[in-house]
Amino acid sequence: MKTKNPIFRRAIYPGSFDPITLGHVDIIRRISALYEEVVVLVAQSNDKISLFTAVERRQLIKKSLGNLPNVRIEIFEGLTVDFVKKEKGQVIVRGLRAVTDFEYEVSQANINRQLNPEIETVLVFASPEYYFISSRAVKEVVKNGGDPKGLVPAQVIGPLKTKLQKNVSRGKNK
Ligand code: ADP
Repeated sequence: MKTKNPIFRRAIYPGSFDPITLGHVDIIRRISALYEEVVVLVAQSNDKISLFTAVERRQLIKKSLGNLPNVRIEIFEGLTVDFVKKEKGQVIVRGLRAVTDFEYEVSQANINRQLNPEIETVLVFASPEYYFISSRAVKEVVKNGGDPKGLVPAQVIGPLKTKLQKNVSRGKNK
């Protein structure tokens, strides 16, 4: 069989990134070494309540990554496969932490395959030092006065505390 396009060049890494964690940064760095270009897709969803707006999330990702010349960050509302097609990408990358991620990722990968069989989903294992980190857990830590150092990039700590403290004080004033 003749392979039409044997090399995957552009990978899309979609997620909420609310906010970006050291686990996300690790995945982005690792896949940026594998593909010509990586597009980090910040999902904008009207259904999902996020702590940071999509623009804020993009800004935090940008600050956290520093200089990675082949990484771009975009915001998109809609189906990931539509974004991948628009970007002429070939691969959706997802990170895999525990077994609990697996079931969700398999079903998501199969739905995307059904929607567009030309797009492959590639799962990348979380590094052992980061596999326990999730954006949700980080928010819980900060909300309860814990230190998020070692969980999120240094650039995220300030904005995270400001946001959650603001929310707490707003709640108290009610
Ligand atoms: P989503 O809401 O789409 O799951 P997330 O921002 O939570 O978005 O995660 C984006 C992707 O990064 C997912 O594939 C998720 O499994 C992966 N991921 C999240 N945290 C980590 C981590 N600590 N290490 C590796 N991958 C991770």
